[in-house]
Amino acid sequence: MRIPYWAGAFWGHPFRAVYTPPMTTAKPRILTGDTPTGRLHLGHWVGSLENRVKLIDEYECYFLIANMHAFTTRAAEPAGIRESTIEIVKDWISVGMDPERSTYVLQTEIPAIAELTWYLAMLLPFNRVMRNPTLKTELETKKAGENYSFGFPMYTVGQCADILIFRPELVPVGVDQLAHIEPCREVARKFNQLYCGVDPQTQDADAVKQGGLFPIPEGKVGRVARLVGTDGKNKMSKSLNNAIFLTDTFKQIKKKMGKMYTGRESVDQPGDINNPLFDYVRAFISDEDRVKELETKYAAGDNIGDGHVKVEVAEAIDKMLEPMRERRAEFEGPAGDEKILSLLREHTTRANAATEETLYEAKKAMKLDFGRRVLSFS
Ligand code: ATP
Ligand code: MG
Repeated sequence: MRIPYWAGAFWGHPFRAVYTPPMTTAKPRILTGDTPTGRLHLGHWVGSLENRVKLIDEYECYFLIANMHAFTTRAAEPAGIRESTIEIVKDWISVGMDPERSTYVLQTEIPAIAELTWYLAMLLPFNRVMRNPTLKTELETKKAGENYSFGFPMYTVGQCADILIFRPELVPVGVDQLAHIEPCREVARKFNQLYCGVDPQTQDADAVKQGGLFPIPEGKVGRVARLVGTDGKNKMSKSLNNAIFLTDTFKQIKKKMGKMYTGRESVDQPGDINNPLFDYVRAFISDEDRVKELETKYAAGDNIGDGHVKVEVAEAIDKMLEPMRERRAEFEGPAGDEKILSLLREHTTRANAATEETLYEAKKAMKLDFGRRVLSFS
């Protein structure tokens, strides 16, 4: 199957972010995205990607590669960040986030995000940022130590800007990110009140109707709010060596599943169907009758081994990933990378039109309107 969307005027051209008219549509917007700290995994699929694919026609969708935020933990690995940027876009296309029906956004090429981050930073109390439970967990699990960078907690504010600059209604995320969406909602309310004269008693749903610039966005958690990693403990995460990637082969999946510890010792020992292995059974075996059957047999210790269940889960995952692998094969090698870069340039130009508009409106509300500017990259 060939996908002809890159066969446009941007092929091989330098990036020129001149204004093009924003996509004119009455649809509400979605903004969500991923940090290029590695490839995408099953946690991303059940937590966020699946919803993106489902909602792609109902909403005007902006999907962000948070490559600036990747530097908050990987400042010493620019080559890795660049590689992951390209691989994640390939993952997106492979799962069905159709680039012809959505806009991909490269964070570092959207200057309005960095600018808005500054203004929003004045509206978010420092203590509020540091109290964020997800931030605390990340500092622990990513072993950031005492000397984490100033930029690390700053990403909380940056993420408010990532979201608000697109003025979306909905943000599909895994449950860990809800703690980051809450400050974003608080900042949006505060901006609307302070600079747009919105009454503090206004209901969130009426914010724009009452003159606010920013809708108060809602997080939308996926089918599995937090998929546990193959370590059976932490959230599956690119950074924690506990992930099954969307690009893994059947052999790799089987090996990773095989290592999942359950503590069960024999085929007739009654098992706990709330263990991480059964989270995977429910997440990836689509035949509901088979899921029930496995649960009943496992709970009763009715001659069923963990090894057998693990292979059955691995097969179900493999079957789910097969069409993704086929779509991804279109983008193998350096020529594939070039197609992705070209696509990113084209889409980011479109995104800049939308974000420049929001920034202009925000600055106008802050009495910082000194004329419209035109961006031009060469
Ligand atoms: P990192 O380890 O670098 O933080 P990550 O694996 O957490 O990477 P992110 O790019 O931070 O991935 O997250 C992208 C999106 O995927 C977010 O909405 C996040 O909530 C969701 N997500 C990530 N991991 C999971 C998971 N295990 N279960 C459900 N959703 C997840
Ligand atoms: Mg994360």
